[in-house]
Amino acid sequence: MLPKKEIPRDPVWYPFTQMQEFAEYSPLIITAAKGCWLEDEQGRCYLDGVSSLWANVHGHRHPVIDRAIEEQLGRVAHTTMLGLSHPGGIELARELVTLAPEGLSRVFYSDSGATGVEIALKMAYQYWQLRGEKQRYRFLRLSEAYHGDTIGAVSLGGMDLFHERFRRLLFETIKVPTPHLYRHPFAVQDEKEIVEQYFSLTEELIARYAKESCGFFVEPLIQGAAGMIVHPPGYLKLLRDLTRKHNILLIADEVAVGFGRTGKMFASEWEDVSPDLLCLGKGITGGYLPLAATMTTEEIFSAFLGDFRELKTFFHGHTYTGNPLACAAALASLKVFAEEKTLETSVFEPKLQRYRTGMKRLEQLTHVGSVRYRGLMGGVELVKDKKTKEPFPFEKRLGYQVIMEARKEGVMLRPLGDVIVLMPPLAVSLEELDLLFDATEKAIRKVTE
Ligand SMILES: *Cc1c(COP(=O)(O)O)cnc(C)c1O
Repeated sequence: MLPKKEIPRDPVWYPFTQMQEFAEYSPLIITAAKGCWLEDEQGRCYLDGVSSLWANVHGHRHPVIDRAIEEQLGRVAHTTMLGLSHPGGIELARELVTLAPEGLSRVFYSDSGATGVEIALKMAYQYWQLRGEKQRYRFLRLSEAYHGDTIGAVSLGGMDLFHERFRRLLFETIKVPTPHLYRHPFAVQDEKEIVEQYFSLTEELIARYAKESCGFFVEPLIQGAAGMIVHPPGYLKLLRDLTRKHNILLIADEVAVGFGRTGKMFASEWEDVSPDLLCLGKGITGGYLPLAATMTTEEIFSAFLGDFRELKTFFHGHTYTGNPLACAAALASLKVFAEEKTLETSVFEPKLQRYRTGMKRLEQLTHVGSVRYRGLMGGVELVKDKKTKEPFPFEKRLGYQVIMEARKEGVMLRPLGDVIVLMPPLAVSLEELDLLFDATEKAIRKVTE
């Protein structure tokens, strides 16, 4: 214990970090960044291989976004959206409605992915209450879901490592098996049959619980935190069809996959799906400032309308809801998407090809069991035995060792257990992609061979 009033050298308690060992390996302190590069206080540079936790899109210190924030700062940094508004907030909402899948016409702001999810959860619940269907209180979600770290979001989550300890604080949700082609529980080995099994299990559970359920939460296409699990094609569409058929809401959490990560502005577009609620965060500001948005349909929005005495109001809000600086950054980021044609084939396809080539190379390594990605979002899973898919012992912390090696090669990564995440900003260059894969290959070989 510290004597009274002795100030620790660094009093910060860091997220997702065992602080006991943090004292031994003192933290790397980042003092600046430019483009896809981070710089530490010693002046060493690192490629930002995970987009500063899946957030950065167009690179750091992008002149268009920097200028937009400076200009907003010259007007006002923050006012409230509780009873007041501001031009950037309104303009951004209009832009989001223009870009989002058909039917999503209303935007509710908050300040992190988790709050965006909590809002979707409460909106969905209240919506059915207002419709007079008071028996609906459950939510369906995938078994290895991750929707954030607040209690509502954790209730929807299935990552036991993070969530199990809090079980008694959580509300119960219906677990639908994550359609995971690499690690699945079925006896069959044919991919088509595995997919069929998952599809029919999903249908069975939706049918069984629909009458008492508000909605189905899903991370479209890729479950990020679970280890970059890529769903089989058609799964999102299946969820859309089944949720319609059984009359529950489809809630898409695009906090990680949104804003171009998978190669389209929103992942739902790949399967022509319009969810009833859409959660956005991370890349919404280009990775500059905390902002989230929960979008919904006219149908849900209008259920909340009424005389104030009817108490249909959505009683929810955060102090920094729709912060003007963050909205300015988000608007500027969307402008950069248009100006730099970030997602147009001519710009995006060469990067995707280079990324694909890199992934194919990693797939050849003796201890890479599976490579999984959509667009520039993915990861490789390290295994002890490629044939049996046996993992390395947890105690070995292979993933962690690999990223520490990669750091020596000038690439900053962050693993998910033994999955090495490779998720550079969309602004990454072909040369930077080469470095990303060279360093990762070298690090994996060094640690595993
Ligand atoms: C990161 C993430 C969240 C939580 O976002 P925060 O901003 O960290 O609260 C929610 N859902 C998904 C799919 C995420 O990847």
